Amino acid sequence: MINIKTAKELDLMRYSAKIVGQCFEYISEFLKPGITTREIDKKVEKFIRSKGAIPAFKGLYGFPASACISVDEEVVHGVPSKKRVLEEGEIVSVDIGVLYEGYYGDAAYTFPIGNVSSEKKELMRTTWESLMKGIDKARAGNRLSDIGASIQAHAESRGYSVVRTLVGHGIGKALHEEPQVPNYGKMGKGPLLKSGFTLAIEPMINIGTETVTEASDGFTIVTQDQKPSAHYEHTVHIRDGEPEILTQHQLTPLG
Ligand code: MG
Repeated sequence: MINIKTAKELDLMRYSAKIVGQCFEYISEFLKPGITTREIDKKVEKFIRSKGAIPAFKGLYGFPASACISVDEEVVHGVPSKKRVLEEGEIVSVDIGVLYEGYYGDAAYTFPIGNVSSEKKELMRTTWESLMKGIDKARAGNRLSDIGASIQAHAESRGYSVVRTLVGHGIGKALHEEPQVPNYGKMGKGPLLKSGFTLAIEPMINIGTETVTEASDGFTIVTQDQKPSAHYEHTVHIRDGEPEILTQHQLTPLG
């Protein structure tokens, strides 16, 4: 069953999602060569707690940190480490979840570290555009698969591949609610989208193969061919039939 959120629930979700968006703006200035992924994680945790909220990923399925931080060929679920120093030219996906008064917000953003290759820039740009194309399909009267079909069409038109074993999700009182939101598919399939749905849409797009594997730490997902991957995510509410991004921020990889 897909939950329809009430106005009161949406007010709480707006708050938790807003903290997520603000957190990305806050950490963006620290994503420079020389910082460790653990230092980034600590800044994320401190920021979330300063807002009276809880980092949603900490302890979830045993995850030991507040943010998932995934570098280059790491797709998602990277574990922050004091040994992992970010270097010029890397691209770093940071995934943040916030719990506030029983409701969740969830988003991800891939940052460039210093100057990155045009190959990586193009991957980031296309992944961001794919997210926006997916969000644009989150409208009452469309079908769920329209979101994934649009993401896939855009990414594949640029020669990239779409990770299939990991998907977006409904979100609200639980971080992961129904429905699953794949980043691929054919138009016109699945449930009818309705006002009051809240979805975390999160394309993971690869330069090489779509195939991913789990690293030996039991968390980090990496591309099988070790080629880079990018990941952008927003929590979206269908409001009066139209998509409203709840995890809004001022960052953009398009500039
Ligand atoms: Mg998510």
